[in-house]
Amino acid sequence: MQEGCDKFCTFCVVPYTRGGEWSRPVETILAEARDLAAKGVREITLLGQNVNAYAGEGGLAGLARKLAKIEGLDRIRYTTSHPADMGDDLIAAHAELPQLMPYLHLPVQAGSDKILKAMNRAHTAESYLRLVEKIRAARPDIAMAGDFIVGFPGERDADFEATLQLVREVGYAGAFSFKYSRRPGTPASALPGQVADEVKEERLARLNALLDEQQRAFNASQAGKVLPVLFERPGRHPGQLSGRSPYLQAVHVDGPDRLIGQIVPVRIEAGSKMSLAGVLEMETA
Ligand code: SF4
Repeated sequence: MQEGCDKFCTFCVVPYTRGGEWSRPVETILAEARDLAAKGVREITLLGQNVNAYAGEGGLAGLARKLAKIEGLDRIRYTTSHPADMGDDLIAAHAELPQLMPYLHLPVQAGSDKILKAMNRAHTAESYLRLVEKIRAARPDIAMAGDFIVGFPGERDADFEATLQLVREVGYAGAFSFKYSRRPGTPASALPGQVADEVKEERLARLNALLDEQQRAFNASQAGKVLPVLFERPGRHPGQLSGRSPYLQAVHVDGPDRLIGQIVPVRIEAGSKMSLAGVLEMETA
């Protein structure tokens, strides 16, 4: 529903390959969503390279409010967001709309202001942390996910430590982390201070160890809770079902195929890094 990007992060090809930001009109999206809901779809994910820059009438918050009124559409997600476009209205929508799922992919890329500036990210580590605070005040159970680049040109040990510190302060439920790699034609590819590959490897391993630990802890903390799970397909083992929690975790339970497409309460028994295991809280008719 949104394509392209005007942000020009210095490492990224999207503004060149996909062009400037473009948004589908609200009515077209609503018509498609109504049609999907009438066919039994319970969850939709609004996609865009910079989805929260959605420029249809009322912005992404306005669209979410309209989508939330569609009968049968119980879950709304959106991805991927830029911190600079996470406005107060969208944050307020997270507090207002139970349909807006409590999982937010909000890339930060780095925790050092020097590197964020060189990346042209248009935010600082501190402004990102304050933003996360605001979002959590609106929706206290929100699970945060992030994107990280290690070994951006000019990244020194202290800059990388600042990334680890930011990760510790936020506490992520999920993340995507990469070694910086030069994309021809992007400003960062021509920057001095390119980081040696073995240094990037070592930093990525340290970052991933921390992110994995946070993800495992977040999933383990769900044990004992009853979560609504939208079942999507049969699981890998006979008699097993696989679905998603509100926090986008994969959930596996034993249960009948007729529950596929339904949102059903599940008592979570255990959480590992990649998924949750549970039992059906009650059989639905
Ligand atoms: S990283 Fe995201 S926000 Fe930055 S230029 Fe690429 S698509 Fe745009």
